[in-house]
Amino acid sequence: MMMLDWTRRAACLDLDPELFFPISLEGPSQSQVEQAKQVCAGCPVREPCLAYALDTRQAYGVWGGTDPDQRRELQTRHAAGLRS
Ligand code: SF4
Repeated sequence: MMMLDWTRRAACLDLDPELFFPISLEGPSQSQVEQAKQVCAGCPVREPCLAYALDTRQAYGVWGGTDPDQRRELQTRHAAGLRS
């Protein structure tokens, strides 16, 4: 797969993927998710990363500082906005 341009500047590029794709969102994994979100908070490509995750409906992992539940919420609100 061709590497997306913004991924070259990703703050998570050299980090352990397990941090961003924990097995669950509960228990010890919750602190991994929080750590991943902190990395995202300082990431220069947070916006394109989140846009990509929303466009491609990424169902797992932390993208652009959001977890899957937060992305579902954003998508629901976006869809509701389009309807109204
Ligand atoms: S926003 Fe987070 S998940 Fe996206 S590239 Fe940056 S560090 Fe990685």
